Amino acid sequence: MNIWRKIKQHVYVLYFTFKSLTYNSSRPKQHYIDACFEPLFWFIDNIASYMGLLFVIAVTVLTSSVVCLWYLFLLPVLQTYSTTRLIFHVVLAHYLLINIVFHYFKAVFTSPGTPPQKTPLQNIPGAVVCKKCIQPKPPRTHHCSICNRCFLKMDHHCPWMNNCIGFYNHRYFVSFCIFMWLGTVYVSVSTFDLFTYHFNHPGTLLSSPKRAVSLSFALGLGPMLDNLLSKLQINSTHFVSGVEETMKNYRPHPGGFTEVHEWEHIGIIYLFLLCAAVAVALGLLNTWHMVLVSRGETSIEVHLNSSEREKAAKRGMGYNNPYSYGVKGNLKEMFGLTNGKTIWSVLFPSSHPPNGNGISWADNKKPIHYPDPEVFAKYERSKNLTWRKLCPC
Ligand SMILES: [Zn+2]
Ligand SMILES: [Zn+2]
Repeated sequence: MNIWRKIKQHVYVLYFTFKSLTYNSSRPKQHYIDACFEPLFWFIDNIASYMGLLFVIAVTVLTSSVVCLWYLFLLPVLQTYSTTRLIFHVVLAHYLLINIVFHYFKAVFTSPGTPPQKTPLQNIPGAVVCKKCIQPKPPRTHHCSICNRCFLKMDHHCPWMNNCIGFYNHRYFVSFCIFMWLGTVYVSVSTFDLFTYHFNHPGTLLSSPKRAVSLSFALGLGPMLDNLLSKLQINSTHFVSGVEETMKNYRPHPGGFTEVHEWEHIGIIYLFLLCAAVAVALGLLNTWHMVLVSRGETSIEVHLNSSEREKAAKRGMGYNNPYSYGVKGNLKEMFGLTNGKTIWSVLFPSSHPPNGNGISWADNKKPIHYPDPEVFAKYERSKNLTWRKLCPC
């Protein structure tokens, strides 16, 4: 019993020694949590900067593979359609392709814009000093830890572009995402019929005189396959004749082809699955980005504004985003349609710069804070929601 008390005393001494040595009234607990994650952030930052080039190569290779397969396997089927339908497909596919390529490489190679380095801080309205690069940081400018510098109206660092998305290339990024989504939706829809044919068609595996890779490989295994089938109590002869029987009742190839190359089988399934998966992922990403664009917020500002809104709500005040000019105004601002540019410069490749200089921002003529008795009650109600209690932030 005595020993346990001594051990307990030693543990308490060690605990209070540790607490007294690490106690710092000016540092919140969050600082220690951040410090623990610092090695992980360092690893991600460094890996992301090296992996960026590989991501750009991956986007280029995957997009090129879709284009090649469209020419190889989809175009011959489209040629069996009426001339009007064929022209529609060819024009639409090339229109989307040109826009995808243009906006992608513009987003990759256009600098998001850096703050002026020689202008004195007091000459830039609302600027502060960046703690990391010790340079003036105008409003909406943020420091990218991967690029290790500040960028004007920084939205996020995009590994797929190997570039930061900011003031000068935000439009290219958004347009690329929209055109890429349209492109993947177009390919998914136009290959759907062919995909269901190849996905379900048993004859593809046994199309005479050529056999598809999967079955040639399986049949090449010979005795091993027979052994496996006998263990599974499946008669291989019945298996093959069953397939042939099903083939007789199956619908013809959408292009009316009597013989299909085995690579079409693999190519079409790859084409549809890749494009459908990208279409779903980009659809969600685009929805999120368009909500932000319509609200005049960047991916960083959405968190800052949410925190400002909550702080204001605690005081019974409402909060207005100082960089929001209404949905129409925000969309015009994003797509650079404020200098006499029309919608055609968004629908077709255009290198027009965004409105303004990314350093100073027009006044939206709305008070940032305004009295709103309802927001405090709303804030109190939201505190009682279960998900908010579970959320650590
Ligand atoms: Zn900086
Ligand atoms: Zn960056």
